[in-house]
Amino acid sequence: MTHRIRRFADLRATEVAERISEHSVFVQPLGAIEQHGPHLPLSTDSVVATAVAEAAVDRVGDELDVWLLPTLEYTKSNEHAWSPGTIWLSATTLLAVLDDIGRCLATTPARRLVFLNGHGGNSALANVALRELRLAHGLITFLAHPGVPPDQGGTSPPSELGMGVHGGTDETSLMLHLAPHLVRLDLAERRVPEKINANRYVRFGGRVSFGWLSDDFPDGYIGDPTAATAELGAHLFEGAVAAFCEALAEISQFDHGR
Ligand SMILES: [Zn+2]
Repeated sequence: MTHRIRRFADLRATEVAERISEHSVFVQPLGAIEQHGPHLPLSTDSVVATAVAEAAVDRVGDELDVWLLPTLEYTKSNEHAWSPGTIWLSATTLLAVLDDIGRCLATTPARRLVFLNGHGGNSALANVALRELRLAHGLITFLAHPGVPPDQGGTSPPSELGMGVHGGTDETSLMLHLAPHLVRLDLAERRVPEKINANRYVRFGGRVSFGWLSDDFPDGYIGDPTAATAELGAHLFEGAVAAFCEALAEISQFDHGR
């Protein structure tokens, strides 16, 4: 077995008091088990969040005293509830689970907890959890994404008209880089809701957001996976890891300035 450094769950209980200090930073990857169209596996968001978190912790963990928690793979995926294979927690359940995790971590000397979120459907709730955990357990809490999702103001390649929200070019490219044996590019088609692009306000990442389920769109995915390549995936992965490493440096020093 390869040596896995800085995996919190690999510590023995008696080591926790020795190794975890007030300077330690916990990274909690948030994945998802949800339909990702015919071309990507249910585990896509978990694979990406875990890989970025592992690479970043392996790179800067010693220097910044960062500890990797086991990925939370079941999260809030109810936009895909229509699709057998999706395993989702309700909003109230996930909020309670994040509170439970925070309460347990707060029994250690560490005070910093970062959620690295691979599933855009978790973002709104995770942001709520940041404040709930700060108030309830005194933790300093952060939310990071491997890439900013297009429905939250992030960008996506031109052929997606800014709508590579789910199973599109970037996500498919990342999977071609990280787990090509799980990708069926031959089954992928371009699925971009061009009508929405005519709107000025009501659009993904626009000033007016809208509630959506993935079966509001054909085949349950939104983007252009046909443009995906492993090379782009490698580039996106390295960019995500480098950015998260830099973010961890700021997080490890962050104080509210009071
Ligand atoms: Zn995804």
